[in-house]
Amino acid sequence: MLRDYEQRHKRCEPLSESFNRSFFQESSSSPVGTKKQNYSTKSHQTSHVVDDDDCSYVVFTRPTNGLGNRMLSMSSAFLYALLTNRVLLVDFGPDMTHLFSEPVPNSTWLFPEDFRFGNRIYGSKVDDFGSLMKKKNNNYTDPVLVNISSSFLHDKLFYSNGVQDGLQKVAWLILKSDQYFVPYLFLMSGFRAKLDRMFPDKEAVFHHLGRYLFTPSDQAWGLIARFYDAYLEKADERIGLQIRVLDSKASPTALVLKQVLRCAQKEAQILPPLATKQNETATKKLAVLVASLSSEFYIELKDMFWKRASASTVGFHQASREEVQRSNDGSHNMMAWVDIYLLSLCDVLVTSGWSTFGYVAQGLGGLRPWILQIPDTKYGGGDTLWGQACRRAVSMEPCFHFPPSYDDNKVGVRVDGSSTVVHCEDVGGGLKLV
Ligand code: GDP
Repeated sequence: MLRDYEQRHKRCEPLSESFNRSFFQESSSSPVGTKKQNYSTKSHQTSHVVDDDDCSYVVFTRPTNGLGNRMLSMSSAFLYALLTNRVLLVDFGPDMTHLFSEPVPNSTWLFPEDFRFGNRIYGSKVDDFGSLMKKKNNNYTDPVLVNISSSFLHDKLFYSNGVQDGLQKVAWLILKSDQYFVPYLFLMSGFRAKLDRMFPDKEAVFHHLGRYLFTPSDQAWGLIARFYDAYLEKADERIGLQIRVLDSKASPTALVLKQVLRCAQKEAQILPPLATKQNETATKKLAVLVASLSSEFYIELKDMFWKRASASTVGFHQASREEVQRSNDGSHNMMAWVDIYLLSLCDVLVTSGWSTFGYVAQGLGGLRPWILQIPDTKYGGGDTLWGQACRRAVSMEPCFHFPPSYDDNKVGVRVDGSSTVVHCEDVGGGLKLV
């Protein structure tokens, strides 16, 4: 399927004859720039319906959320493209273009920067999917913008098999999403047989999609390889600790650190207890990669395991300390990608619940992580830690955080009788593949 996809992608790639034909027939006003004059488009301007030989596209638009969300969402868009014979293009913006290598050899997935539908990006000539559904308008062929992350019922009709048949006619689907919506594709009867053939192992869906789509660029690879060779390679075991704190007031460092140790030393038993005697002999060399926006966890842990003996020599390393999350920042995104990739190279992972950053690392690495429950003083026992600190994930798949309710008849899909799609360990209402 991938080889077929590559051929289609190559035939339909940006600025190819098929691309230009499809783009200019859909773009009813002149695109920004002068490229339109270079192509003969007249004979195609009246027909919008997709023929078998025509190219049709899913364009992943400039998203707002962090890198983990974006990568999960892109991989979902790619699977959707595979299922519907579309070509995936990405409209990244400058903060993303330098992170990845092109997935399809000798081609590009970058939507040309100076091409627009209408006079702004995807302009007013683009139909909004939710509004079309609200008006019960099923006769749509212009470019359609689908907002997968929207909570409105009409937007959720995207998941209905009947609506999917209608969407097949549309050459340009522009996708706004920050979600891993793959589990829901498995709940749609129109796609299920094909998906079952594609993925005998349901736990490895993102693993395959992600490893195909996301190869580090040369710049990213240099940063990853130098760090790995210097700090991780020589250890007997590599442990990744991904600590994602969303609200540092509600989750103070000392409390989170205690929870990390409860998880790593007691429950998961991936870090040794600290010895009471100073002369304990270390038999193993562990390298721990700490991925966190803050440097505090790394500093505290390093000190703790240096000043006290234990059954292993434990070295702590941190590749970046960005301190705050930033958007539209290329070097910040590069550090995020490097951290994600380095985590994926570890042998064992502790990730933070709810974090898409961690999901990508576990998926690329083919690892079932220990999912850490970040303590939050707003809930439960204040700063007393109770319950489980972490639990082992049932599969390495990411969680679809906000699926539409699958009992909703209007959407017309239900959770399947088998246990392929289950609720996530960290997000009760979420769905994941096992
Ligand atoms: P999520 O918010 O945890 O689901 O993950 P996202 O990746 O979608 O958004 C978080 C963003 O914050 C990342 O993309 C990074 O920009 C930044 N970030 C969070 N944690 C880390 C980290 O451990 N290392 C680095 N370098 N950046 C991080």
